[in-house]
Amino acid sequence: VASNAPRSISISITSLSRCISTLILAEHESGTIKPQTVSTVVAANSLGESSSISLLLAGSGSSLQEAASQAASCHPSVSEVLVADSDKFEYSLAEPWAKLVDFVRQQGDYSHILASSSSFGKNILPRVAALLDVSPITDVVKILGSDQFIRPIYAGNALCTVRYTGAGPCMLTIRSTSFPVTPITANSESKKATVSQIDLSNFEDDSVSKSRYVGRSTQDTERPDLGSARVVITGGRALKSVENFKMIEKLAEKLGGAVGATRAAVDAGYVPNDLQVGQTGKIVAPELYMAFGVSGAIQHLAGIKDSKVIVAVNKDADAPIFQVADYGLVGDLFEVIPELLEKLPEK
Ligand code: FAD
Repeated sequence: VASNAPRSISISITSLSRCISTLILAEHESGTIKPQTVSTVVAANSLGESSSISLLLAGSGSSLQEAASQAASCHPSVSEVLVADSDKFEYSLAEPWAKLVDFVRQQGDYSHILASSSSFGKNILPRVAALLDVSPITDVVKILGSDQFIRPIYAGNALCTVRYTGAGPCMLTIRSTSFPVTPITANSESKKATVSQIDLSNFEDDSVSKSRYVGRSTQDTERPDLGSARVVITGGRALKSVENFKMIEKLAEKLGGAVGATRAAVDAGYVPNDLQVGQTGKIVAPELYMAFGVSGAIQHLAGIKDSKVIVAVNKDADAPIFQVADYGLVGDLFEVIPELLEKLPEK
């Protein structure tokens, strides 16, 4: 899907020649560090040999402290975990978070500030960049050195090599699917980072009234996270209804996978938009990606091209999805899925 067509974009001011010291905006939930944060740590290790890595966690209460303790051993290269414990950060609103990053940056000399290319990172990091008047580099898929990065452009159809020559810290969002976490690096107990509570007595947040927490609706937490699932089962517009889409959910359940959807399926209201896979949805790279009634539009393929094995079921033998599928079945999903459900054992 993607062709190697490197280009160079230069953002010039002065070059980045300081010692590498990285601050990573860490995501956590229910006392646990999210896998995309660990992938971001893996990416930070490619910035240079003498790099030090600090994780910044914000939130409030015991689940934050649990996450901080887990973060201290999430990867052997993490040297420090900085914890901002305050009601202001309870809901991960972007404005106070951005102010916090600026506050922490003023106390440490960070050459790089990283976050994953998740909704969390994409929400916060550009705001920090605006506060610091820095141009962020987003969706990094490869790190060539402390100031040179590869990122996709044109919906993943070309790869662009970007050199950062700005004066402020180099700010990156990282595509976690491009920096897999190996079992050896994950949950390493051998080395623990120091955990420090940030003194927030001088932290001024004038953004309080700009955004307000309204509520949160979460999907079935039993299912694996779509962005890091080993198996993803996706349904397209062909499912035709919310009711029929339950077949996809049932199949995902049997295979221990996450549910994905095309934008057409989301727009039709079959599933919520956080399940959308593709250029304007989630980027996935599972070991097995199964697409039912998905045509294979370029914007959808942009989100699945790093999947290890792609299986497609479509009744149109000329559907573009078959050009990228490792296994293709020309057939009616309303016959194929019930048969699969019948033959697969209960989980
Ligand atoms: P369709 O294109 O309608 O395809 C349905 C497929 O189902 C067809 O191939 C048909 O042969 C097959 N089919 C029908 N009935 C059956 C059956 N009974 N059994 C088996 N097969 C059947 N799309 C995304 O998915 N993700 C994105 O992030 C995204 N971002 C976009 C960004 C932009 C700027 C734009 C312009 C578009 C974006 N799109 C995105 C939309 C994308 O272009 C396509 O419109 C969309 O992916 C099509 O979804 P679909 O494959 O479900 O539907």
